[in-house]
Amino acid sequence: MKTRTLKKNKVNVVTLGCSKNLFDSEIMMAQLKANKFEVQHESMDDDAEIVIINTCGFIDNAKQESIDTIIRYAEAKQDGIVDKLYVTGCLSERYKEELEAEIPEVDSFFGTRDLPRLLKTLKADYKHELIGERLLTTPSHFAYFKIAEGCDRPCSFCAIPLMRGKHVSTPIEELVKQAEGLARKGVKELMLIAQDLTYYGLDIYKKRALADLLRKLSDVEGIEWIRLHYAYPSGFPLDVLEVMKERDNICNYLDIPLQHGSTKVLKDMRRGITREKTEKLIENIRKAVPGIAIRTTLIAGYPGETEEDFQEMYDWVEQSKFDRLGIFTYSHEENTHAYSAEDDVPDAVKKERADKIMELQSGISYDLNQQKVGKTFKVLFDRVEGDYFIGRTEFDSPEVDNEVLIKKENAYVRIGDFAKVKISKADHYDLYGELVD
Ligand code: SF4
Repeated sequence: MKTRTLKKNKVNVVTLGCSKNLFDSEIMMAQLKANKFEVQHESMDDDAEIVIINTCGFIDNAKQESIDTIIRYAEAKQDGIVDKLYVTGCLSERYKEELEAEIPEVDSFFGTRDLPRLLKTLKADYKHELIGERLLTTPSHFAYFKIAEGCDRPCSFCAIPLMRGKHVSTPIEELVKQAEGLARKGVKELMLIAQDLTYYGLDIYKKRALADLLRKLSDVEGIEWIRLHYAYPSGFPLDVLEVMKERDNICNYLDIPLQHGSTKVLKDMRRGITREKTEKLIENIRKAVPGIAIRTTLIAGYPGETEEDFQEMYDWVEQSKFDRLGIFTYSHEENTHAYSAEDDVPDAVKKERADKIMELQSGISYDLNQQKVGKTFKVLFDRVEGDYFIGRTEFDSPEVDNEVLIKKENAYVRIGDFAKVKISKADHYDLYGELVD
């Protein structure tokens, strides 16, 4: 066993999964820092005495990635490269007993709402005065902004409520305080996230209060872009669109996972909406906010999905021309409602169907992007890569959507700044342009 001098009280936090998990890691890191730990996020230094892995337990691939990461650090611990190894997050919430039995090298496993207990294990205190405080892991000009935890929806395929519990909204005052704190730190863009954004307020205000929250957040000085992720179609609060139209700093952008385009499959998925009602909703959204960019997420290969059902979804995607689209292959998750059905679509067919949809979407994205050539957009610059400064328009969320590239040799922009860019060329997922005054 090789021994190495590990830095006492140094913690390396590793985050897997979604932006909500990243938010939780940032909260945890702020608490650790306030307890005098030296904290890093996904450091390659290998000198941290303590490693905390915040896992994902959503679907097969994500679970496998979490398990591989735990095993990698368990081996590092055996090699003396890590002293203490802790695991938290969704996979740990869902499979604690199994993981404890299979990977005894891990010192302790924690659930998704176990931060105080995790801190106690590290002989640290949970500092209530820090509620909402975070150590950002994103570039300092944007931040994910979780407005609620958990989910009350009955979607048949989804294990998230098993790991995250019931829907709990964070009060508006607290969120406004958090946003003001982030704006003081230089954050200009907030990505609003939750399991179901549009359910916001139903628990604590007994009404859908996303529109109220948006008005308050839009008033926070310094916040120039507010972006909506994870909206739910059925019962969609149309007053949100009014606020989007009314306020310049709310991006004309909506991420709304729709999951499928066949009413039969939507029914089996317990989504509480039909294809026809979905089409009407999308039509109303586009009428209310002309030019809005709509992102959606679908599932291919749900139990019982026939070739006809898939073709219906394919035709619907072709007709709907979503601006941004992602697709998962169905993952048979135990303890979900769908688990009682037979997972009868072979993996190869699931993959083939998902690939067909993405091929279709790449053509749609190419055509839509051609319409942007010659137009000028406000762009927020995120990074430098190779010969380019790279940024996004209000129609693009970080890491998942299109990017705007301008040549370094022709211009200079500061990362984190906005600038106007005239688009001169476009391909499937990237736009190229020049700075204009
Ligand atoms: S809305 Fe449905 S898919 Fe989304 S987290 Fe809730 S149960 Fe899962």
